[in-house]
Parts: sequence; C-alpha cells; structure tokens
Amino acid sequence: MISATEVKIGMEKEIRTMARMLLDARHAVVFTGAGVSVESGIPDFRSSGGIWERFDPDEFDYGAFRADPAVYWKNRCEGRHAGALDIFQAKPNPAHKAIAWLQQEGRIITVITQNIDNLHQEAGSTDVVELHGNARWVRCQECGRRMPSRDADLQARAGQIPPLCSCGGILKPDVIFFGEMLPQRAMQRAMAEAMYCDMMVVVGSSLVVYPAANIPAIAAEHARLCIVNLDPTPLDAVAGVVIHDRAGEVLPAVVEAIREMSRD
Ligand code: NAD
Repeated sequence: MISATEVKIGMEKEIRTMARMLLDARHAVVFTGAGVSVESGIPDFRSSGGIWERFDPDEFDYGAFRADPAVYWKNRCEGRHAGALDIFQAKPNPAHKAIAWLQQEGRIITVITQNIDNLHQEAGSTDVVELHGNARWVRCQECGRRMPSRDADLQARAGQIPPLCSCGGILKPDVIFFGEMLPQRAMQRAMAEAMYCDMMVVVGSSLVVYPAANIPAIAAEHARLCIVNLDPTPLDAVAGVVIHDRAGEVLPAVVEAIREMSRD
C-alpha cells in the first residue's frame, strides 16, 4: 500500500502535469537507475558516499573474473563485498511501490532498470527489463543456467571456490561486470520499448552510464519525457517535466494526483 503523501509544495504543477501525461499516454514506460533505491538505503553510483568510494571497481572486472574466478569468490567469502551485499537486506521504498501501483493500474507498461537489487519485483512490478542483471542470481558460465546466489554462497562457504554448476561450469553473479557485454535480449527489449512508447518517465538516473543511457535518449526523439532526479541530467533540456527531488516523495504524490483526477 502507498501511504497518502501530500503533494510537494512548489511542485504541484509539475506533479499534476506528469499525472495528466500518464493518464493520457498510450504506452508509458519507466526507466530507473540507482537513485530510485537510495531511499531504500542502497548508495548510488557517484554521489558522495556512493558505492565506488567504498569498493574497488577492479574487483568487479569481467576480464579479471574470467582469468581467475577464485579471487572474486574468495574475496566475497571473506566479507570484502559485505557492503555491496547489503542490497539483500534492502526493502522497496515508496518510489518502487508507486511504480508498481502505476504498472498494476495499467498506467505504466514496462519498467526498464539499470539496478541489480530486485526491488521493483519485490514492490510488485511484473514486467521488469533488467539491463545490468540481478544480484539475487548467479549464472553458469558454461550452460547458462541461472540459480539463486545463496546456493553459490553456500558452496563457496563450504570450501568449493569457485562454486560450480551441476554441469561443472563456473558460477558468476548474474550482474554485468565492468567490461562485460550487456544482456542482448534485455537491451533489444529496452530499445523496442524506447521506440514504441509515447511517454518515458526517468527516475533516479544520472543518464551518463552508456549504453543504458541510450534508451531514454532514443525515447526523447519522439516520446514525452518526464525526469525525476535529485541532480540535473543531460536530457533535462528536452524533457516535458523535470523534478529535481526525491523519488520516494515525488512518485507517491503523482499517484495521489492520478487518483484525484480519476475521481473528478
Ligand atoms: P548514478 O549513480 O549514476 O545516478 C544516480 C542518480 O540518482 C544521481 O543523478 C542522483 O542525483 C539521483 N538520486 C539520488 N538519490 C535520489 C533520490 N532519492 N531520488 C531521486 N534521485 C536520486 O546511477 P545510474 O544512472 O543508475 O548509473 C549507475 C550504475 O550503477 C548503473 O549501472 C546501476 O546498475 C549501478 N548501480 C545499481 C545500484 C542498485 O542496484 N541499487 C546501486 C548503485 C549502482
């Protein structure tokens, strides 16, 4: 359930415009980034206190993993990724819940996310396109089978490093490491949504991480764009609505506005 939220003072007009656009849209989609999960306690990419102030990106390098997967799994077992694994404890916040409500009501068709935290699904979203994978899962590098990451962690803690699939292949977290190709099917689906949609709502993304940032750029060429992000983004100038505030406050306010307008 979404708690009733007062429409944020000074933003009533933008919030109502965004609500009206969602009511009028034929096929609206949402594109989310790390910022949508900050209010769930997961730090974003670049803000101060962000993930890369605490972790060495080299530990998540695809070439290094391929060369010696045992190093990654040993570090993970020894708790060196403890902060990164906090995402397993995180819960959806009002922004995830508002997006799930919009999807259940048919106002949003698809959620395209750069996040790996599974919080959209936990909030109740169903059609979620994950561009960077999902940390709850691992994937066999040989047969491609996907399984819960806790199975791999159990193996590793029992001394099987790197953990293995039943086919003997090495298991890797099902998230995109640096230097790794994005999952082709997810990227194609996201591109198709960007081309077909008539409205895209961007939430919590700096829009500087490519190739994912191409998705809203493609949508912006023909569809209406709304941006909800604390900081300015490169697409602000072409968006119909830009709200520089917290997603967990803005999106529930948009939901309230839609409910109100639907009653009128
Ligand atoms: P980013 O860190 O580059 O940008 C996040 C943006 O969110 C910032 O511009 C910031 O102003 C904004 N923001 C922060 N708190 C906000 C809030 N409460 N409400 C609204 N906006 C807020 O993130 P990105 O564009 O997603 O790119 C980062 C990459 O890092 C992605 O590839 C993503 O996969 C990965 N990542 C994922 C997670 C996650 O799964 N939760 C967390 C960190 C990084």
